[in-house]
Amino acid sequence: MQFFDLNSYMADMVYELVPGVRRQGHNQLNFRCPICGDGKKKTSRRGHFYLNEGTYYCWNAGCPANEKGMSGLQFLSAITKKSQAELKKELIQRAGTFQNIIKEEVQQESKQNINDLFNDIKLKKEEKRLLIKQQLLDNNWTVLPKWVQEEVDKRKIYKSPYIAHDWELFYDKRTNRLVIPWTDEYYQLRALTKKQEAESGKYLFPPDIEKPIFGLNMIDTNFKYLFLLEGVFDAIFVKNGLAVGSLKLSNKQKEILEQYKDYTIVYFMDNQYKDLSSYEETLKITKEQPYINLFIWPEKLKEFKDVNDTIITSDNYLRLWSNEGFLKSRIFNGIKARMELKNF
Ligand SMILES: [Zn+2]
Repeated sequence: MQFFDLNSYMADMVYELVPGVRRQGHNQLNFRCPICGDGKKKTSRRGHFYLNEGTYYCWNAGCPANEKGMSGLQFLSAITKKSQAELKKELIQRAGTFQNIIKEEVQQESKQNINDLFNDIKLKKEEKRLLIKQQLLDNNWTVLPKWVQEEVDKRKIYKSPYIAHDWELFYDKRTNRLVIPWTDEYYQLRALTKKQEAESGKYLFPPDIEKPIFGLNMIDTNFKYLFLLEGVFDAIFVKNGLAVGSLKLSNKQKEILEQYKDYTIVYFMDNQYKDLSSYEETLKITKEQPYINLFIWPEKLKEFKDVNDTIITSDNYLRLWSNEGFLKSRIFNGIKARMELKNF
């Protein structure tokens, strides 16, 4: 199973392209090196493809894959004459066709998978590579399977006026979760089923990296307000909306916000009309931190749970959340915020 998860599609290609491949132990494919032609003896098989690492090595001195070996993509590129980018695309497509198998695996997610995943991430971090790119390169992430795409479409994510043109969601094959990239280094893995959520939480994120802020690259510097929301799928619809995960800000997040001193920072929670814990948290802040600015939902939106909920109901709300006057009119702090909450 481990073998199937890691670099499995690359291994499939090796089997297809190279004659006489033999499995050796749990981590190697062994065959006659197609790059250098291998040794004179017909039985000479000096090529080794390492499944876990997705790398290739040939023991034949003088072979380009000798000494330092090469990445799996380099190897496949050398024997197919296709570019690495082309091959990567092909691999991702192959992964997409596994959607039905993957769907069944959603039922089988285990804590062990998640531990394996985080061990992998730690290794990658030590190599000081950009995590996002590396996950794609390693083929741990794929394009969205159809059933996940449907979920994303339902939420109208790509209708948001405030997402970068190259921002993309992915599917993590190993945890069967939706990947929400935040920065080059940080992302969330969002549960796709209630079962996943109950077993290991709605969101998972890379360990050992302090939580940054999502959306800073898309703010309008002429509008001197920043709205801090918990979830990305809400933040992307609000003008100058940023996602912070939880409103208990990390030191890194506080540090980042220091650079926006000329902006009014506003905490923006789920609808206080609909969500009791949001109401209570808002009330608590008005008492304990009366200087904190809060977005308080207006009564006319009382039936909605959160921002995304309004968008799902009607595209017309896209304009509301872009309206500077409306957003400003709902900012309160301290006693004024408490007065506003009295109507609830
Ligand atoms: Zn060779």
